[in-house]
Amino acid sequence: MTNRRNFLRNVAGAALGATFCATDASSLLRADDAPAVSNKLGKMNLTFKPYLLTLRHAFGVSGVTRTTTQSVQVEIECDGYVGYGEASMPPYLSESTASVMAFLERVDLSQFKSPFEMEDILTYVDGICENNAAAKASVDIALHDLVGKMIGQPWWKIWGLNKEKTPSTFYTIGIDAPDVVKEKTKEAAKFDILKVKLGRDDKSDREMIESVRSVSDSPIAVDANQGWKDKVYASEFIGWLHEMGVILVEQPMKKTKLDDIAWITERSPLPVVADESLQRLTDIPRLKGAFSGINIKLMKCTGMREAWKMLNLARALDMKVMVGCMTESSCAISAAAQLSPMVDWADLDGNLLISNDVFDGVKTAPNGKLLLSDLPGLGLTKLDAPINRLDTII
Ligand code: MG
Repeated sequence: MTNRRNFLRNVAGAALGATFCATDASSLLRADDAPAVSNKLGKMNLTFKPYLLTLRHAFGVSGVTRTTTQSVQVEIECDGYVGYGEASMPPYLSESTASVMAFLERVDLSQFKSPFEMEDILTYVDGICENNAAAKASVDIALHDLVGKMIGQPWWKIWGLNKEKTPSTFYTIGIDAPDVVKEKTKEAAKFDILKVKLGRDDKSDREMIESVRSVSDSPIAVDANQGWKDKVYASEFIGWLHEMGVILVEQPMKKTKLDDIAWITERSPLPVVADESLQRLTDIPRLKGAFSGINIKLMKCTGMREAWKMLNLARALDMKVMVGCMTESSCAISAAAQLSPMVDWADLDGNLLISNDVFDGVKTAPNGKLLLSDLPGLGLTKLDAPINRLDTII
Protein backbone atom coordinates (compact mmCIF):
# COMPACT_ATOMS: atom_id res chain seq x y z
CA MET A 1 0.00 0.00 0.00
CA THR A 2 2.92 2.32 0.78
CA ASN A 3 4.27 1.96 -2.73
CA ARG A 4 0.84 2.54 -4.19
CA ARG A 5 0.36 5.71 -2.15
CA ASN A 6 3.77 6.98 -3.26
CA PHE A 7 2.80 6.27 -6.82
CA LEU A 8 -0.48 8.12 -6.51
CA ARG A 9 1.21 11.13 -4.96
CA ASN A 10 3.78 11.22 -7.75
CA VAL A 11 1.04 10.98 -10.36
CA ALA A 12 -0.70 13.83 -8.60
CA GLY A 13 2.43 15.92 -8.48
CA ALA A 14 2.82 15.47 -12.20
CA ALA A 15 -0.85 16.22 -12.83
CA LEU A 16 -0.84 19.43 -10.82
CA GLY A 17 2.58 20.56 -11.97
CA ALA A 18 4.05 23.63 -10.34
CA THR A 19 0.85 24.26 -8.42
CA PHE A 20 1.61 21.39 -6.10
CA CYS A 21 5.30 20.48 -6.02
CA ALA A 22 8.52 20.55 -7.90
CA THR A 23 8.59 16.81 -8.63
CA ASP A 24 10.34 16.24 -11.96
CA ALA A 25 10.18 13.34 -14.36
CA SER A 26 13.38 11.71 -13.12
CA SER A 27 12.18 11.54 -9.53
CA LEU A 28 8.97 9.91 -10.71
CA LEU A 29 11.08 7.09 -12.12
CA ARG A 30 13.34 6.44 -9.13
CA ALA A 31 13.65 2.68 -8.57
CA ASP A 32 12.79 2.83 -4.86
CA ASP A 33 9.52 4.60 -5.65
CA ALA A 34 8.55 2.29 -8.48
CA PRO A 35 4.97 1.12 -7.98
CA ALA A 36 4.49 -2.55 -7.20
CA VAL A 37 1.15 -2.48 -8.97
CA SER A 38 -0.11 -1.55 -12.39
CA ASN A 39 0.13 2.20 -13.04
CA LYS A 40 -3.44 2.22 -14.35
CA LEU A 41 -5.95 3.77 -11.94
CA GLY A 42 -9.32 2.14 -11.40
CA LYS A 43 -12.59 3.64 -12.58
CA MET A 44 -14.40 6.23 -10.52
CA ASN A 45 -17.71 5.17 -9.00
CA LEU A 46 -20.26 7.92 -8.19
CA THR A 47 -23.03 7.26 -5.65
CA PHE A 48 -25.51 9.62 -3.99
CA LYS A 49 -28.44 9.81 -1.57
CA PRO A 50 -30.80 12.52 -0.28
CA TYR A 51 -30.35 14.00 3.21
CA LEU A 52 -32.66 16.52 4.92
CA LEU A 53 -30.75 19.17 6.89
CA THR A 54 -32.66 20.28 10.00
CA LEU A 55 -32.23 23.87 11.18
CA ARG A 56 -31.65 24.67 14.86
CA HIS A 57 -33.96 27.68 14.60
CA ALA A 58 -36.55 28.62 11.98
CA PHE A 59 -34.51 30.76 9.58
CA GLY A 60 -36.00 34.01 8.27
CA VAL A 61 -34.65 36.13 5.42
CA SER A 62 -36.39 39.01 3.63
CA GLY A 63 -38.56 36.71 1.51
CA VAL A 64 -39.24 33.48 3.42
CA THR A 65 -38.80 31.48 6.66
CA ARG A 66 -37.96 27.76 6.71
CA THR A 67 -36.99 24.96 9.14
CA THR A 68 -35.27 22.43 6.85
CA THR A 69 -33.12 22.40 3.72
CA GLN A 70 -32.93 19.58 1.20
CA SER A 71 -29.48 18.21 0.40
CA VAL A 72 -27.93 15.32 -1.49
CA GLN A 73 -24.76 13.61 -0.32
CA VAL A 74 -22.35 12.34 -2.95
CA GLU A 75 -19.43 9.93 -2.87
CA ILE A 76 -16.86 9.23 -5.58
CA GLU A 77 -14.81 6.10 -4.96
CA CYS A 78 -11.58 5.20 -6.78
CA ASP A 79 -8.99 2.60 -5.81
CA GLY A 80 -10.18 2.43 -2.21
CA TYR A 81 -10.25 6.21 -1.69
CA VAL A 82 -13.60 7.94 -1.13
CA GLY A 83 -14.25 11.62 -1.84
CA TYR A 84 -17.29 13.24 -0.20
CA GLY A 85 -19.46 15.92 -1.77
CA GLU A 86 -22.76 17.64 -1.08
CA ALA A 87 -25.47 19.61 -2.88
CA SER A 88 -27.60 21.94 -0.74
CA MET A 89 -30.81 23.30 -2.21
CA PRO A 90 -32.42 26.29 -0.50
CA PRO A 91 -35.83 26.77 -2.19
CA TYR A 92 -35.02 30.11 -3.88
CA LEU A 93 -32.34 28.52 -6.08
CA SER A 94 -34.83 26.35 -8.00
CA GLU A 95 -33.01 23.08 -7.46
CA SER A 96 -34.53 20.20 -5.48
CA THR A 97 -33.61 16.71 -4.34
CA ALA A 98 -35.37 15.39 -7.46
CA SER A 99 -33.57 17.70 -9.90
CA VAL A 100 -30.16 17.02 -8.31
CA MET A 101 -30.73 13.22 -8.33
CA ALA A 102 -31.85 13.41 -11.97
CA PHE A 103 -28.69 15.36 -12.86
CA LEU A 104 -26.39 12.97 -11.01
CA GLU A 105 -28.00 10.01 -12.84
CA ARG A 106 -26.63 11.54 -16.05
CA VAL A 107 -23.04 11.88 -14.81
CA ASP A 108 -20.84 9.15 -16.36
CA LEU A 109 -17.32 9.28 -14.89
CA SER A 110 -16.36 5.89 -16.36
CA GLN A 111 -15.21 7.63 -19.55
CA PHE A 112 -12.27 9.26 -17.69
CA LYS A 113 -9.02 7.42 -17.06
CA SER A 114 -8.11 9.22 -13.84
CA PRO A 115 -9.60 11.54 -11.18
CA PHE A 116 -6.59 13.81 -11.81
CA GLU A 117 -8.12 14.85 -15.14
CA MET A 118 -10.07 17.40 -13.09
CA GLU A 119 -10.26 20.08 -15.77
CA ASP A 120 -11.71 17.63 -18.32
CA ILE A 121 -14.05 15.97 -15.83
CA LEU A 122 -15.51 19.19 -14.45
CA THR A 123 -15.83 20.79 -17.88
CA TYR A 124 -17.80 17.70 -18.93
CA VAL A 125 -20.00 17.89 -15.78
CA ASP A 126 -20.67 21.59 -16.38
CA GLY A 127 -21.65 20.85 -19.97
CA ILE A 128 -24.30 18.24 -19.14
CA CYS A 129 -26.91 21.01 -18.90
CA GLU A 130 -27.10 24.75 -18.39
CA ASN A 131 -28.18 25.04 -14.76
CA ASN A 132 -28.04 22.65 -11.75
CA ALA A 133 -25.13 24.53 -10.10
CA ALA A 134 -25.58 22.77 -6.74
CA ALA A 135 -25.65 19.33 -8.38
CA LYS A 136 -22.46 20.22 -10.28
CA ALA A 137 -20.89 21.49 -7.06
CA SER A 138 -21.56 18.17 -5.33
CA VAL A 139 -19.49 16.33 -7.95
CA ASP A 140 -16.79 19.03 -7.89
CA ILE A 141 -16.48 18.88 -4.10
CA ALA A 142 -16.33 15.07 -4.02
CA LEU A 143 -13.70 15.05 -6.78
CA HIS A 144 -11.55 17.60 -4.94
CA ASP A 145 -11.81 15.55 -1.74
CA LEU A 146 -10.90 12.37 -3.64
CA VAL A 147 -7.91 13.90 -5.43
CA GLY A 148 -6.62 15.55 -2.25
CA LYS A 149 -6.83 12.20 -0.44
CA MET A 150 -4.99 10.43 -3.27
CA ILE A 151 -2.26 13.09 -3.19
CA GLY A 152 -2.23 12.98 0.61
CA GLN A 153 -2.54 16.77 1.02
CA PRO A 154 -5.30 19.25 1.98
CA TRP A 155 -6.50 21.68 -0.70
CA TRP A 156 -5.43 24.82 1.19
CA LYS A 157 -1.88 23.46 0.91
CA ILE A 158 -2.22 22.39 -2.73
CA TRP A 159 -3.35 25.96 -3.49
CA GLY A 160 -0.33 27.32 -1.62
CA LEU A 161 -2.29 29.07 1.15
CA ASN A 162 -1.40 29.64 4.81
CA LYS A 163 -3.95 27.98 7.09
CA GLU A 164 -3.09 30.41 9.92
CA LYS A 165 -4.64 33.21 7.83
CA THR A 166 -8.22 31.94 7.99
CA PRO A 167 -10.72 34.61 9.08
CA SER A 168 -13.45 34.21 11.68
CA THR A 169 -16.72 33.13 10.16
CA PHE A 170 -19.74 35.37 10.59
CA TYR A 171 -22.54 33.92 12.68
CA THR A 172 -25.94 34.62 11.13
CA ILE A 173 -28.97 35.99 12.95
CA GLY A 174 -32.11 35.53 10.83
CA ILE A 175 -35.13 37.85 10.88
CA ASP A 176 -37.28 37.23 13.93
CA ALA A 177 -39.14 38.87 16.82
CA PRO A 178 -36.92 41.12 19.05
CA ASP A 179 -36.84 38.75 22.04
CA VAL A 180 -35.88 35.80 19.83
CA VAL A 181 -33.18 37.88 18.12
CA LYS A 182 -31.76 38.79 21.53
CA GLU A 183 -31.67 35.12 22.53
CA LYS A 184 -29.97 34.09 19.28
CA THR A 185 -27.43 36.90 19.69
CA LYS A 186 -26.62 35.84 23.26
CA GLU A 187 -26.10 32.30 21.97
CA ALA A 188 -23.49 33.70 19.56
CA ALA A 189 -21.91 36.12 22.06
CA LYS A 190 -18.34 34.89 21.56
CA PHE A 191 -18.29 35.24 17.76
CA ASP A 192 -16.04 38.04 16.45
CA ILE A 193 -18.55 39.15 13.78
CA LEU A 194 -22.32 38.70 13.60
CA LYS A 195 -24.30 38.73 10.36
CA VAL A 196 -27.81 40.15 10.54
CA LYS A 197 -30.47 39.55 7.92
CA LEU A 198 -32.48 42.65 6.97
CA GLY A 199 -34.67 43.81 4.10
CA ARG A 200 -38.21 43.09 5.29
CA ASP A 201 -39.25 46.71 6.10
CA ASP A 202 -37.86 49.79 7.86
CA LYS A 203 -39.45 49.03 11.25
CA SER A 204 -38.30 45.41 11.26
CA ASP A 205 -34.79 46.34 10.07
CA ARG A 206 -34.27 48.93 12.81
CA GLU A 207 -35.66 46.52 15.43
CA MET A 208 -33.28 43.80 14.28
CA ILE A 209 -30.20 46.00 14.62
CA GLU A 210 -31.35 47.56 17.91
CA SER A 211 -32.14 44.11 19.36
CA VAL A 212 -28.68 42.79 18.49
CA ARG A 213 -27.03 45.98 19.78
CA SER A 214 -28.92 45.72 23.09
CA VAL A 215 -26.98 42.54 23.92
CA SER A 216 -23.79 42.69 21.82
CA ASP A 217 -21.05 45.17 20.83
CA SER A 218 -19.62 42.89 18.12
CA PRO A 219 -19.17 44.20 14.58
CA ILE A 220 -22.17 43.40 12.36
CA ALA A 221 -22.33 42.46 8.70
CA VAL A 222 -25.74 43.19 7.19
CA ASP A 223 -27.46 41.24 4.41
CA ALA A 224 -30.49 42.98 2.88
CA ASN A 225 -31.13 40.10 0.45
CA GLN A 226 -32.36 42.56 -2.26
CA GLY A 227 -34.98 43.87 0.16
CA TRP A 228 -34.54 47.66 -0.11
CA LYS A 229 -36.68 49.23 -2.83
CA ASP A 230 -35.27 52.77 -3.18
CA LYS A 231 -31.64 53.84 -3.62
CA VAL A 232 -31.99 57.08 -1.62
CA TYR A 233 -33.61 55.22 1.28
CA ALA A 234 -30.93 52.50 1.09
CA SER A 235 -28.12 55.03 1.06
CA GLU A 236 -29.47 56.93 4.09
CA PHE A 237 -30.15 53.68 5.95
CA ILE A 238 -26.56 52.52 5.34
CA GLY A 239 -25.43 55.78 6.98
CA TRP A 240 -27.43 54.82 10.10
CA LEU A 241 -26.05 51.26 9.97
CA HIS A 242 -22.52 52.67 9.87
CA GLU A 243 -23.22 54.59 13.08
CA MET A 244 -24.55 51.35 14.62
CA GLY A 245 -21.25 49.50 14.11
CA VAL A 246 -22.07 47.71 10.87
CA ILE A 247 -18.98 46.85 8.78
CA LEU A 248 -20.45 45.79 5.41
CA VAL A 249 -23.70 45.53 3.47
CA GLU A 250 -24.63 42.63 1.22
CA GLN A 251 -26.98 42.95 -1.76
CA PRO A 252 -28.94 46.12 -0.87
CA MET A 253 -31.33 46.04 -3.84
CA LYS A 254 -32.69 43.72 -6.56
CA LYS A 255 -29.94 41.85 -8.37
CA THR A 256 -30.70 43.53 -11.70
CA LYS A 257 -30.64 47.12 -10.34
CA LEU A 258 -26.92 47.58 -10.94
CA ASP A 259 -27.14 51.31 -11.73
CA ASP A 260 -28.94 51.99 -8.44
CA ILE A 261 -26.49 49.77 -6.54
CA ALA A 262 -23.54 51.55 -8.15
CA TRP A 263 -25.07 54.86 -6.98
CA ILE A 264 -25.33 53.46 -3.42
CA THR A 265 -21.80 52.02 -3.46
CA GLU A 266 -20.34 55.32 -4.61
CA ARG A 267 -21.80 57.06 -1.55
CA SER A 268 -21.51 54.23 0.97
CA PRO A 269 -19.11 54.44 3.95
CA LEU A 270 -19.30 50.62 4.03
CA PRO A 271 -18.23 48.00 1.47
CA VAL A 272 -21.19 46.80 -0.63
CA VAL A 273 -20.96 43.11 -1.56
CA ALA A 274 -22.73 41.24 -4.39
CA ASP A 275 -24.53 38.01 -3.58
CA GLU A 276 -27.75 37.52 -5.58
CA SER A 277 -26.29 39.62 -8.46
CA LEU A 278 -23.48 37.09 -8.76
CA GLN A 279 -23.52 33.47 -9.75
CA ARG A 280 -20.47 32.50 -11.74
CA LEU A 281 -17.06 33.61 -12.98
CA THR A 282 -18.36 35.40 -16.06
CA ASP A 283 -20.64 37.63 -13.93
CA ILE A 284 -17.75 39.32 -12.15
CA PRO A 285 -16.48 41.88 -14.73
CA ARG A 286 -19.91 43.56 -15.07
CA LEU A 287 -20.17 43.87 -11.27
CA LYS A 288 -16.92 45.79 -11.03
CA GLY A 289 -17.92 49.38 -10.28
CA ALA A 290 -21.40 48.48 -9.02
CA PHE A 291 -20.15 46.62 -5.94
CA SER A 292 -17.05 46.81 -3.74
CA GLY A 293 -16.80 43.02 -3.53
CA ILE A 294 -18.34 39.63 -4.23
CA ASN A 295 -19.71 36.76 -2.15
CA ILE A 296 -18.63 33.42 -3.66
CA LYS A 297 -20.82 30.42 -2.85
CA LEU A 298 -19.99 26.91 -4.06
CA MET A 299 -23.66 25.97 -4.57
CA LYS A 300 -24.12 28.85 -7.01
CA CYS A 301 -20.80 28.74 -8.86
CA THR A 302 -20.58 24.93 -9.44
CA GLY A 303 -17.86 24.25 -6.89
CA MET A 304 -14.26 24.72 -5.79
CA ARG A 305 -12.68 24.81 -9.25
CA GLU A 306 -14.71 27.81 -10.37
CA ALA A 307 -14.60 29.43 -6.91
CA TRP A 308 -10.80 29.46 -7.06
CA LYS A 309 -10.92 31.15 -10.47
CA MET A 310 -13.48 33.70 -9.19
CA LEU A 311 -11.36 34.53 -6.18
CA ASN A 312 -8.35 35.23 -8.39
CA LEU A 313 -10.31 37.24 -10.95
CA ALA A 314 -11.89 39.41 -8.23
CA ARG A 315 -8.45 40.06 -6.74
CA ALA A 316 -7.13 41.04 -10.18
CA LEU A 317 -10.03 43.50 -10.47
CA ASP A 318 -9.23 44.93 -7.00
CA MET A 319 -12.52 43.73 -5.52
CA LYS A 320 -13.10 42.47 -1.98
CA VAL A 321 -13.98 38.81 -1.58
CA MET A 322 -16.29 37.01 0.82
CA VAL A 323 -16.82 33.25 0.77
CA GLY A 324 -20.36 32.28 1.77
CA CYS A 325 -22.57 29.23 2.02
CA MET A 326 -26.09 27.86 2.14
CA THR A 327 -27.38 25.69 4.96
CA GLU A 328 -24.83 22.91 4.55
CA SER A 329 -23.17 20.14 6.53
CA SER A 330 -19.48 20.31 7.38
CA CYS A 331 -18.81 18.61 4.03
CA ALA A 332 -19.49 21.62 1.79
CA ILE A 333 -18.43 24.09 4.51
CA SER A 334 -15.02 22.39 4.68
CA ALA A 335 -14.74 22.65 0.90
CA ALA A 336 -15.38 26.41 0.94
CA ALA A 337 -13.11 26.86 3.98
CA GLN A 338 -10.12 25.63 1.95
CA LEU A 339 -10.27 29.02 0.12
CA SER A 340 -10.75 31.07 3.24
CA PRO A 341 -7.12 32.04 4.00
CA MET A 342 -7.30 34.28 0.93
CA VAL A 343 -10.64 36.04 1.51
CA ASP A 344 -11.56 39.27 3.32
CA TRP A 345 -14.60 37.78 5.04
CA ALA A 346 -15.98 34.28 5.57
CA ASP A 347 -19.66 33.57 6.07
CA LEU A 348 -19.30 29.83 6.65
CA ASP A 349 -21.70 29.06 9.47
CA GLY A 350 -24.13 26.79 7.56
CA ASN A 351 -22.96 23.77 9.54
CA LEU A 352 -23.53 25.64 12.82
CA LEU A 353 -27.14 26.45 11.92
CA ILE A 354 -28.18 22.77 11.62
CA SER A 355 -28.77 20.14 14.30
CA ASN A 356 -27.84 17.05 12.24
CA ASP A 357 -24.32 17.53 10.84
CA VAL A 358 -22.90 14.21 9.63
CA PHE A 359 -19.27 15.18 9.03
CA ASP A 360 -16.28 16.37 10.98
CA GLY A 361 -14.23 18.78 8.93
CA VAL A 362 -13.15 22.36 9.38
CA LYS A 363 -13.56 23.30 13.03
CA THR A 364 -14.77 26.65 14.37
CA ALA A 365 -13.12 28.24 17.41
CA PRO A 366 -15.43 29.87 20.00
CA ASN A 367 -14.71 33.29 18.42
CA GLY A 368 -15.61 31.94 14.97
CA LYS A 369 -12.07 31.53 13.60
CA LEU A 370 -11.97 28.74 11.04
CA LEU A 371 -9.51 26.00 11.96
CA LEU A 372 -8.25 24.03 8.97
CA SER A 373 -6.58 20.69 9.59
CA ASP A 374 -3.67 18.93 7.88
CA LEU A 375 -5.88 16.01 6.89
CA PRO A 376 -5.88 15.36 3.12
CA GLY A 377 -8.54 16.53 0.70
CA LEU A 378 -11.19 18.51 2.55
CA GLY A 379 -10.20 17.03 5.92
CA LEU A 380 -13.48 15.16 6.28
CA THR A 381 -14.45 12.30 8.57
CA LYS A 382 -17.93 10.82 8.22
CA LEU A 383 -19.70 10.57 11.58
CA ASP A 384 -21.57 7.50 12.84
CA ALA A 385 -24.41 9.65 14.19
CA PRO A 386 -25.55 13.23 13.43
CA ILE A 387 -24.38 15.97 15.81
CA ASN A 388 -25.39 19.51 16.70
CA ARG A 389 -22.08 21.24 15.94
CA LEU A 390 -22.74 24.58 17.62
CA ASP A 391 -23.10 22.71 20.92
CA THR A 392 -19.48 21.58 20.56
CA ILE A 393 -18.06 25.12 20.41
CA ILE A 394 -20.14 27.43 22.63
MG1 MG B 1 -26.45 36.98 1.04
